[in-house]
Amino acid sequence: MKIIILDPYKKSNSKINKDQAGGYGTSNEFGDNFFNLILSYFVKKLIQYPPLYVAYSISVLKKKGYDVFYENDINLVNSADLCLVTSSIVCHETELQVLKKLKEKKIYTGVIGSFCTTVPNLYLKESDFVISGEPEFFLLREDINSLIKEKKRGILKSASGKNLDELPFPSWETFFNSGGPKAFFINKFGKTIPILASRGCPYSCFNYCTYPTQQGRTVRRRSVKNIISEIKLWKEKYNINSFLFRDPVFSINNPQTEELCNELKKRDLKIKFGIETHLNNLNLHLAKILYSAGLRYVEVGIESSSEEVLKDCKRFSIKKEKELDLVKAIEKIGIKVKTMFIYGMPTDNYKSCLDTLNFSKQINATYSQFSIFTPYPGTPIYDTEYKNKILTKKFEDFTQWQLVFKHKNLSTENLKSLVKKSYKEYYLRSIWLLKYFKIYRL
Ligand code: SF4
Repeated sequence: MKIIILDPYKKSNSKINKDQAGGYGTSNEFGDNFFNLILSYFVKKLIQYPPLYVAYSISVLKKKGYDVFYENDINLVNSADLCLVTSSIVCHETELQVLKKLKEKKIYTGVIGSFCTTVPNLYLKESDFVISGEPEFFLLREDINSLIKEKKRGILKSASGKNLDELPFPSWETFFNSGGPKAFFINKFGKTIPILASRGCPYSCFNYCTYPTQQGRTVRRRSVKNIISEIKLWKEKYNINSFLFRDPVFSINNPQTEELCNELKKRDLKIKFGIETHLNNLNLHLAKILYSAGLRYVEVGIESSSEEVLKDCKRFSIKKEKELDLVKAIEKIGIKVKTMFIYGMPTDNYKSCLDTLNFSKQINATYSQFSIFTPYPGTPIYDTEYKNKILTKKFEDFTQWQLVFKHKNLSTENLKSLVKKSYKEYYLRSIWLLKYFKIYRL
């Protein structure tokens, strides 16, 4: 039987990543001045990977004996026993158009991913069914032959998989012919395998963040043995030494992180990898252990330099001074850091955003990201405060780089100019350029 996973994207000059923002997706729209457009172009070319659940779903289906194909273009889909379409907020309207075309072609179609889990009825208007929850676990447990034969319809629930080791390793080799997956920050132009050690996040910022909404607030972990086996597979079979951990908070359990690092060293795997984590779960001692195991790149959310702004949004953060010292110390070891900031949080004003920009420069990390606060459907803050304040009619505007709600202190123009200014000022400082050229010896 032939199953196609169709992963459609809207036309854009920016990098769209449906794996980010808890699977809702983001589109890096840095601004329309010359410098920001060049930056967008490089980010689009150099960081590419589909959602992790796609690679997992392909491997589950292949293991069950199906012929599985991955496509981005609806025009290449003419016949299939089943077509599974990825969902996201950032390409929502495009996905609906694609579903309409599949209906015209009379192809049995289901929708998968985080966003269809939040708004299943919007997708059901154009599709036969929606898988609500993690699709890879649904595909693993359900009888797919019966699903196709009986042409089941409606919302099909996927019980969250407690044991992540149950899943076969994701089928990243499916993407090798098109050059991916890639993550420049870790491995420049070579391949980098996105990988997972855990899912879920217990932090209080679930108030506005989609990761806990989608993956749960209880952390589920793969065993160290299972992670090592996967790394060995990519290394030994495909000679790939570069990995990007996609856990929301990689080092949330320090002892397990240390165990993984020790195992990587013991086996002399000589890989390099990147992670995302919360600065509360990192210290110099752990950073040194991680570096010796191959860590070369960390993403950390700082969001704002204002304690009041963070408190109002229920974001737990360590003290500013500690953030500054820690990032500098981590970079000194040889780990590149990307600090991530958000403008337009509920109580932000122009001055607090400028203070945040100045704080980012003070830290002077190798990379910095400046995005715009986005209240996402499915999060507590959306339901309690923003549902009736949304200005846009298109979900595709929820890119993290557009203001989608009526802000009490800031306008769209304020925020767009802040983002533009921030990228330009941050990356064109001589102190940053010197540091970057030294790191990459360009
Ligand atoms: S720590 Fe990160 S992943 Fe967890 S809720 Fe906060 S922003 Fe989301």
